[in-house]
Amino acid sequence: MERPGEARMIDLRSDTVTRPSRGMREAIASAEVGDDVFGEDPTINALQEKVAGLLGKEAALFVASGTMANTVAVKTHVGHGGEVIAEEGCHIFNYESGSSASISGIQFRNIPTGMGHFTAVDVAARLRPKEMHAPQTKLIAMENTHNRAGGTVFPLEEMKKIGELARRNGIPVHLDGARLWNASIATGVDMAEFGKTVHSVSVCLSKGLGAPVGSLVAGSKEYIDRARVVRKMLGGGMRQAGILAAAGLYAIEHQWERLAEDHANARLLAEGLRRIPGMEVDLDRVQTNIVIVDVREHPLGEKGITERMAEQGVLFLAIGPGRLRLVTHIDVSRPGIEEALERMEKALS
Ligand SMILES: *Cc1c(COP(=O)(O)O)cnc(C)c1O
Repeated sequence: MERPGEARMIDLRSDTVTRPSRGMREAIASAEVGDDVFGEDPTINALQEKVAGLLGKEAALFVASGTMANTVAVKTHVGHGGEVIAEEGCHIFNYESGSSASISGIQFRNIPTGMGHFTAVDVAARLRPKEMHAPQTKLIAMENTHNRAGGTVFPLEEMKKIGELARRNGIPVHLDGARLWNASIATGVDMAEFGKTVHSVSVCLSKGLGAPVGSLVAGSKEYIDRARVVRKMLGGGMRQAGILAAAGLYAIEHQWERLAEDHANARLLAEGLRRIPGMEVDLDRVQTNIVIVDVREHPLGEKGITERMAEQGVLFLAIGPGRLRLVTHIDVSRPGIEEALERMEKALS
């Protein structure tokens, strides 16, 4: 939603820039709380139960951030020296300050893909032989939706095949589902269907759902009991954090289904940007709330474009040579997107 006085700046850098809505702030103010390290915060317990249920898992654990969720998840699965098969552009590998290496002591075996999702055949080709010279494959990690590929959905059918391959080989699978909420809305597939194909899932409350803080890791009860110890080890045990969990519960109830609006806005944005000479958008990738723009042919280049548009009150990120990323979210409604497009057409054509 647009707030008075903020109409001029249209911030499409990320779906994390949103501010808690009024209803969410009321839910925060009235939350019942307790000491969560003792397991006594009723609002956190309610959120954990709710999210576990949504993901088709026995249990879930509330943590401070998506990075902490993935770090806890990976470390709980993999001992030092283990190898993790993951997509080349994935968040765990690229955007978590090297936590998998520095905290969990793992190494990656990357799969390059265009669209952010790989196949069971790709995974099978990278499983290590059980042999003393080779590192040992200890985890397969997927990302749905895939951030760097442009919010693309990892198809459920392929996730099932990968899950089966992993089970046959006794290897666990983790799903970085920071934006699984979006994948579910975009496809109409229940989050539990995606969740059932893997052993652990992380989800973020602070992306499209619009909560200020928080992520969860979900899995079997036995796995989450071990994950709770890892969370404590990382300094992630929180006390009366039910005020944060209340925001998450509110977000799931009131701000989840509306992600469809963000997806429609991303589509509108993508189609509009294609009209600007020197800007290319692959519409097949615009499946959720992220738009990646190829500006290699634009005379200003990615840096010049972001600078010029910042002056015009439209913010977004350059995420590599010739690449821009724009993300739609709850704090920019359709008229805001139309306004952003108008300013961009005027300043960049
Ligand atoms: C944002 C994001 C995370 C979590 O990042 P934080 O900044 O720690 O919240 C994890 N995975 C993906 C795919 C993300 O986009």
